[in-house]
Amino acid sequence: AVVTRFAPSPTGYLHIGGARTALFNWLYARHHGGTFLLRIEDTDRVRSTQGAIDAIVDGMTWLGLDWDGDAVFQFSRADRHAEVAHQMVAGGTAYRCWMTQEEIAAQRAEAEAAKRPLRIRSPWRDRDASEGPADQPFVVRLKAPREGATTIDDQVQGSVTVQNAELDDLILLRSDGTPTYMLAVVVDDHDMGVTHVIRGDDHLNNAFRQLPIYRAMGWAEPTYAHIPLIHGADGAKLSKRHGALGVDAYRDELGILPEALDNYLLRLGWGHGDAEIITRAQATEWFDLAGVGKSPARFDLKKLENLNGHYIREADDARLAALVAARRPEGDDALPLLTQAMPVLKVRAANLNELAENAAFLFAKRPLEPDQAASALLAGDAPALLARVHAALDAGANWDTETLDAAVRQVAEDAGVKLGQVAQPLRAALTGRKTSPGIFDVLVLLGRAESLGRIADRMA
Ligand code: GLU
Repeated sequence: AVVTRFAPSPTGYLHIGGARTALFNWLYARHHGGTFLLRIEDTDRVRSTQGAIDAIVDGMTWLGLDWDGDAVFQFSRADRHAEVAHQMVAGGTAYRCWMTQEEIAAQRAEAEAAKRPLRIRSPWRDRDASEGPADQPFVVRLKAPREGATTIDDQVQGSVTVQNAELDDLILLRSDGTPTYMLAVVVDDHDMGVTHVIRGDDHLNNAFRQLPIYRAMGWAEPTYAHIPLIHGADGAKLSKRHGALGVDAYRDELGILPEALDNYLLRLGWGHGDAEIITRAQATEWFDLAGVGKSPARFDLKKLENLNGHYIREADDARLAALVAARRPEGDDALPLLTQAMPVLKVRAANLNELAENAAFLFAKRPLEPDQAASALLAGDAPALLARVHAALDAGANWDTETLDAAVRQVAEDAGVKLGQVAQPLRAALTGRKTSPGIFDVLVLLGRAESLGRIADRMA
């Protein structure tokens, strides 16, 4: 059975690259009816924070990426990691190394002089530990193979080979007995039964250091899939400089719906024919590693907002009203009117901020403060036309779009002007803006008294 995992280090926010890695692991597991696990790699005790752990959990929950069982905290497993290192020493696949700082510095200087990468060659690799200074601290190093080559048949990158001579005997346990990252990842992945390691391709090099640990322990090797990182519009690796944000900022600051971000992240690096709008159910049915592109995808906020606009139009009105109410000073008091207005509001918003902004006229207090474009529409003969509109609307018995439509048309006809010449100042008077939902919808939403009041404020 397939077991995948997402293994973030809780040292910052959950960025969208991490969210996409989580999504791919989730989809691969769910597609195969397998298991998706979460492991918090909190071994960096200085940089790991509770805030970052919360951001990971919140972000994944918001994106609908549920994991199976409890999250595993890597730091809590340090004893187990050390146990494996000691087993390797006992089995002869790792060794205690008492190299001094001077010896390491000498090798570094030698490598620099020869302009080649530093590859530690420890004299202790082939010496018997009983010869070591037992009372001195030591590190435990992997006895990595030096002959031949290691090939990884990566599901995304293809077959990648590294000469073993290029690898060095990496440290498994530091001199204070704490495990290194390389060891911890392998032991945890093995103990958690992970069958597929799907992660950013910045970890491809690590795979060549991690595989020998599996082999030394005689453990089943996972299948690897290293996915290209996300790049900015300029082609460089996505960074803060590009305005790369945490998942929470897409939710809170940019007003993106989770299904839109999921769909966008899925398409960013994975394709299924030319499908753009892909539901979670379809994604689960279709997802495979063969569809993951080999070259880095470029992040494009416009495309994300296009998808977001689509999902806003699809979304339930009450849900959208609640999301918009949270962005309005009226809070929950705004819910009934927002829910009522949502069918006409949601057709033209790319994000929840725009939606809240477009809804502002519903809650504006008289007299409205029209913006510049609306002020221009309220000048000239507009006040006189609005007086005629006021009289016509006030005379009608009913307040529905049909009646209102007929009345306003009649005003335009009587005044000998086009409908737009009446509708535009009317919109400006009612909303303080040049654009809004259809003017008759606006009249109905505001109701008779408020509408007539707003018109009266602007008429001659
Ligand atoms: N903790 C690593 C990271 O955040 C991921 C390790 C892995 O996926 O093997 O980049």
